[in-house]
Formats: sequence, structure tokens, C-alpha cells
Amino acid sequence: MPVLTFQNADGTLGEYTFSDADPVLLRVAENGGARFGTGEGKPQAIITRAKVYQVPLLVNLRGDPRVRVNGRRVVGLRVLRQGSRLQIGDMEMLFWEMTLQEVAVGSALIGKRCPVCRLDYRSADEVVICPRCGVPHHKECWFEHEFCSNPGCLYPIRATLKRLLAGRGILIEQLAANSPVVTQSKRCAAGTPGVDAQPFQAGQHVAYCPNSACGAAFHLECWVSLGNCPVCGKYDVGKLLRSVFMPNMLPYLGEENGEFDEEAAQ
Ligand SMILES: [Zn+2]
Ligand SMILES: [Zn+2]
Ligand SMILES: [Zn+2]
Ligand SMILES: [Zn+2]
Repeated sequence: MPVLTFQNADGTLGEYTFSDADPVLLRVAENGGARFGTGEGKPQAIITRAKVYQVPLLVNLRGDPRVRVNGRRVVGLRVLRQGSRLQIGDMEMLFWEMTLQEVAVGSALIGKRCPVCRLDYRSADEVVICPRCGVPHHKECWFEHEFCSNPGCLYPIRATLKRLLAGRGILIEQLAANSPVVTQSKRCAAGTPGVDAQPFQAGQHVAYCPNSACGAAFHLECWVSLGNCPVCGKYDVGKLLRSVFMPNMLPYLGEENGEFDEEAAQ
């Protein structure tokens, strides 16, 4: 579900979650900061979804020059992407469209069924609620597909995942017939029974372990379900996905780099 993150006046980090059915209204408070939802004064901006291309939009309702996206004034409307920087008055926010969340004890999701694997959600499962149609999916069930599983939704999961990981220097590649892992008949290092008995085929999507000393190749759908890399044991994919898709988490650089940083600091 889409989220706005921001820093409160006291330095703590804040989050505001919304949905297409309940879009966020942004107003400028007297002190110059942003206010969310209904309340005093007229809203300056709204985040909604374009009917035609289904992309999130920020609409500057009154042409207020204090409404900016990535530092630029918004005349009319502006398409938002995950990571867009919003400025309303003197408050800065980050826009998150696709977010990962952990099912809390007592959550309304418990007992509901994932449309992909048909298993019920349990507490501590990691889920993604489709930002477009609102259907929840397990993390693994969501990231292994190109589009949202809900017929007619077509939220572009893989394109968004690829773009956000590329921003962290991690490339997902669709294998060509002459890709080295195909010509060398390499197999996915996840060792998933059945699936990984066959070598890589052209057309499959592959992720390489981001630990530069490792670089092991995995099917994208196997890789997104991993915790620590089974080859090097020094790169935790679960931590990476949490750092990219859970708001207000620190960037994850791999266990190796974490250790390196600690030593360098001494
Ligand atoms: Zn599932
Ligand atoms: Zn959907
Ligand atoms: Zn695999
Ligand atoms: Zn590795």
C-alpha cells in the first residue's frame, strides 16, 4: 500500500499509509508543515491514480507554489514514482508505492488466503498489498510474478522491482541464448527441488548474488524467497528486500560490507 514517510519536528520518523479508495489529502499547516487527511483549511494537493495509465499522480489543487516534486514546482499534476521527493510547504516527504509489511498478531489478514499459493496468512508472514487493486500477496508470491495475479490489475511488479534494485546497483537480467550461464549449462544455486534440476534456459530472469566475491546465479523467483545466500552466506536477500520496500529502514549492503564498515570505524 502506498506510504508517505517524513521526519517529524522532533526528529522521529513518521509514516502515513493510504490507498486508492482512501487517497491522501495534503494541506499546509500554519507552521508551514504538511497535514494529512481531512481537517481545517482547504487541501493543497491530493495523491490519486490516473484513470488511463494507472500511474500515481500528485495533483496540485490550488496551484500553490509551495507544492513541489523532486524540487520542481507542480503545475497541475505530476506522475509519482517510488522514491519521489514531495515538498508541501516546508515539509519533505518520500513517496512509496510498493511496500512490504509484516503481518501483525491480530491483523485482519490472518486467516485470509493468498491468491497465488492458496495458503492462509499467518502472523509474521511478509506480505505486499497490491498498490493498485489492494489484493494482498505473500512476499515470495508477489515478487516471483511479472504482474499482479489479480486478473485485469496488471500492476507491473517485475519492472518496478528491477528499477528499484537497479537503483541499488543490483541487476536482474533476462537470459539470452548466449548468456554465459546458459552456454555453460549452469544451474540455479537455490537448489529448489524439481525447478533447479534443469540448467538455466534463455528467457528466464536471473539475479546474481550482489556479494562481489560470490556472484552466484539464481532464478529471480528462487532468489526473492531466499534469506542468506546459500553459496557465500554473506548476503541476506530478505534483509535487502526489507531495506528496499519497508519504509524507514537503513540501506542493506551485505554482511561483508557491514563487517568491513565496523572495522573501518575502529
Ligand atoms: Zn502465497
Ligand atoms: Zn493488483
Ligand atoms: Zn531456481
Ligand atoms: Zn552469495
